[in-house]
Formats: sequence, C-alpha cells, structure tokens
Amino acid sequence: MSDTTFSSLQLAAPFLANLDQLGYKDMTPVQAATLPLALAGRDLIAQAKTGSGKTAAFGIGMLLKLNPTLFAVQGLVMCPTRELADQVANELRRLARGIGNVKVVVLTGGISMRPQIASLEFGAHIAVGTPGRIRDHLQRRTLDLARLRTLVLDEADRMTDMGFYDEIAAIVRECPAHRQTLLFSATYPDDIRAATARFLRDPLEVAVDTAH
Ligand code: ADP
Ligand code: MG
Repeated sequence: MSDTTFSSLQLAAPFLANLDQLGYKDMTPVQAATLPLALAGRDLIAQAKTGSGKTAAFGIGMLLKLNPTLFAVQGLVMCPTRELADQVANELRRLARGIGNVKVVVLTGGISMRPQIASLEFGAHIAVGTPGRIRDHLQRRTLDLARLRTLVLDEADRMTDMGFYDEIAAIVRECPAHRQTLLFSATYPDDIRAATARFLRDPLEVAVDTAH
C-alpha cells in the first residue's frame, strides 16, 4: 500500500507542521491522486465529490509555487458563488500559515469594489472570486494577471451550469500562456469537457470518489 500521509510529499517542515496543526495527516483520496502531479507542474482535470478535500488538493501546489516576497497575484481561483469563494479563501489562508505572509483577496459580486481594489493595490498573492467580478476587475485594470502562475477552475461543472462560460473564457484570455491550470469538478460531462479543453495544456485526468 502506498504512503498517503502528507509527510510522504517533499514538503518543507513548517508547511507540514501547519498541516499537522490543522489535523491533516493523511491525504484524502483526491489529494493523494492529484498532489504529486500538481507539485510536478502538470495541468490537471480532477473529478471528486463534494467534501473530498479538493481545496487543499489545488491549494497546496498553488501555495508552494508562489513567491511571498513578490506582491503580485500569482494564483487565481474561480468559484461559482460568493459563499464558495469565501470558503476557499479561508481554507487557503489556513494552509498558507505554513508559508508565511500570504495575502488572499476575495473578488465577488454584490459588494463594493472599493475594498477589493484597495486589497489588490496593497498587494495580494492569491485572488479567489466569481467570474463576473473577476472580469470586472480585469476590465477596469484593477487586477493584473501578468505574474499569474496557477489558474484554478473550481466546481467547473456548476460554473458552466450557471452560465459563466463566456466570462471564464474572457478571463483565461487574460492569463499568461505559461501557467499551470487545474480544473476541479464534482462531475465532468462531455459538454463541459469539450468547452474547457482549450483552457488546459496536455492535462492529466484524475477521477476519484465521483458522484454518480
Ligand atoms: P471539496 O472542495 O471537495 O468539497 P473541501 O476542500 O471544502 O472539499 O474540504 C472539505 C473538508 O475537509 C474541509 O473542512 C477541510 O478542512 C477538510 N479536509 C481537507 N483535506 C483534509 C485532510 N487531508 N485531512 C483532514 N481534513 C481535511
Ligand atoms: Mg470545493
């Protein structure tokens, strides 16, 4: 049986200690299946049911790739709803304690742009948001993705169902070509596969614990 503890990954001691403090000792199946590939820099399409630990599955690789001394958005996570964006941001903040000073900004609609712009100006490393608001920031040039290294489409099936496809495509066009793209979804039907294929480069597909 292969080792699925986080300590089997080549992670720095403070990062591991923080995971331990969070009570994360064993990787969940989707984490065990994706983390080694994500850490190796591969693009991924990962399918796993809700509650299976997908946030850490994309978040750990994204966090370990970023340069905390560079105050530019290096990771972008798109989520279908405000609530999910808040949850993802909070999980990333918990995971980031093992790295140091990492700023995570939430860019969602229904609230004022002003504090979001202030956080971006102050210098955020990771932006988590909904496609409409992320696109708003791009159009106003208050969000700059020139230094982006990791792009995540979280709950890609729900985002597509909610009609965000055009906004997602417009955002992806603003991302540097040289990046890692991770697509996470509970389901991955053919129409979503066809629509999203061009966002990824030679992706590996992983499916664990899928919903039926
Ligand atoms: P998903 O995005 O697949 O629905 P989440 O990333 O929201 O799942 O994780 C679900 C819950 O599991 C969260 O409360 C998270 O803190 C917890 N969790 C994630 N990974 C682990 C782990 N390796 N060990 C213990 N708990 C974990
Ligand atoms: Mg999730």
